[in-house]
Amino acid sequence: MNLALLHIGIDDTDSKEGMCTTYVGAVAIDSLKSQGVKLEGYPKLIRLNPNWKLKTRGNCAIVFTTKVQKHQIPVVKETVLRTVEELAELHIKTTNPGVVFYEGERIPIKLRKFSKKVVQDITTIDEAESLAGEIGAEVHKFKLGRGIIGALAAIGNTLEHDWTFELIAYRKPENRGTPRKVDTASVVKMNTKTFPNTFGNLDPFTGEIRITPHTPCPILYGIRGEDAKTTLAAHKLVKSLEPIERFVVYMTNQGTDEHLRQAKVAEVKPYWSVIVGGEVSSAPKIILGGHVIFSMRDKTGKIDCAAYEPTRQFRDVAKKLIIGDKVVAYGGVKEKPELPLTINLEKLSILKLVPVLRKVNPTCPRCGKRMKSEGKGKGYSCKRCKIKVPASAAKLVEMRREIEVGAFEVPPRARRHLAKPLVRVAYPRREY
Ligand SMILES: [Zn+2]
Repeated sequence: MNLALLHIGIDDTDSKEGMCTTYVGAVAIDSLKSQGVKLEGYPKLIRLNPNWKLKTRGNCAIVFTTKVQKHQIPVVKETVLRTVEELAELHIKTTNPGVVFYEGERIPIKLRKFSKKVVQDITTIDEAESLAGEIGAEVHKFKLGRGIIGALAAIGNTLEHDWTFELIAYRKPENRGTPRKVDTASVVKMNTKTFPNTFGNLDPFTGEIRITPHTPCPILYGIRGEDAKTTLAAHKLVKSLEPIERFVVYMTNQGTDEHLRQAKVAEVKPYWSVIVGGEVSSAPKIILGGHVIFSMRDKTGKIDCAAYEPTRQFRDVAKKLIIGDKVVAYGGVKEKPELPLTINLEKLSILKLVPVLRKVNPTCPRCGKRMKSEGKGKGYSCKRCKIKVPASAAKLVEMRREIEVGAFEVPPRARRHLAKPLVRVAYPRREY
């Protein structure tokens, strides 16, 4: 037996109007399986830099590894390329698919580094092509072929440090574009039985179902979870009121915070997603549209942080911050001309709240009643007892802050695919 591992990466097959790269992958996988081709491990769904302006909706690529005999390789490649050709939204200008084949037992370190860069930063088609040449990967470009960046990056993402799973169920072609029919009560029950081993099923505030997307894509629903077994069990609990064409379980970097990097304020660049610690340096203000903006600083500089309207209740936390509060901001940085760099908040940790002190009139030393002010700086008096005390007798009392120290996150409706939900973090979940 002359078995080889062939890694297959696919990206940029979808458009805002339809299709989904995960579906192209699912069809290719099923087609290969029906030809007796075996897969090694789980197929993977890799989310790429969420801040990149050329992304389609979720900016995801997929990769799967086949274990094949050398002579089967041409048939495998042909099946994959034909599937992409048939299903990709090639008529849409911004859809520029890429397919990459890489044969080998090990993923080269250079490719792993490239993969990290595609999740956290920006790269070019040239860079991807030259790396592919260097490591001996075979690239196939459709139209501009921008997808080879994500396809190569997906092969390079070995998901060694953290990962989750998503089971994705697809609709029959005739139902796509119509309202999704899933029994709401069954999703609530599924959530009760499987949370937190599955997550993001429901919006904690509105109770709204979050497993069904709102786009014209072929996805009926996606169930995210810590392990494949739980997502399969959850899938069995969900009652679909329309037929499911097929489903696939992807291992993924979703919910892992892989896009984030620690940074000082002065280091922050557009298109990065960052974790920045500092002190609130300007009071939060609510701007047109209901967005909340405040600025924070560390030793290297000052940066704006924004909790946008779709983050709903999360804004109430940001709104109650005051100058001096110590926080850690998590979020993506987009480039907007004329505006200062702004961290689009995904999460916020409040480490320390500054005390708010209020001056309280002293009480009369004889009758115990609250004394009256004689005017600014003139001290206090009790009219009944005819006692006067100096201005310095006033007390400073610490006021209760309306927020608490802790970690806060945007609701699932506004959450980035890559953002790690607090439920996955060691500290207990808090309500906003
Ligand atoms: Zn008195």
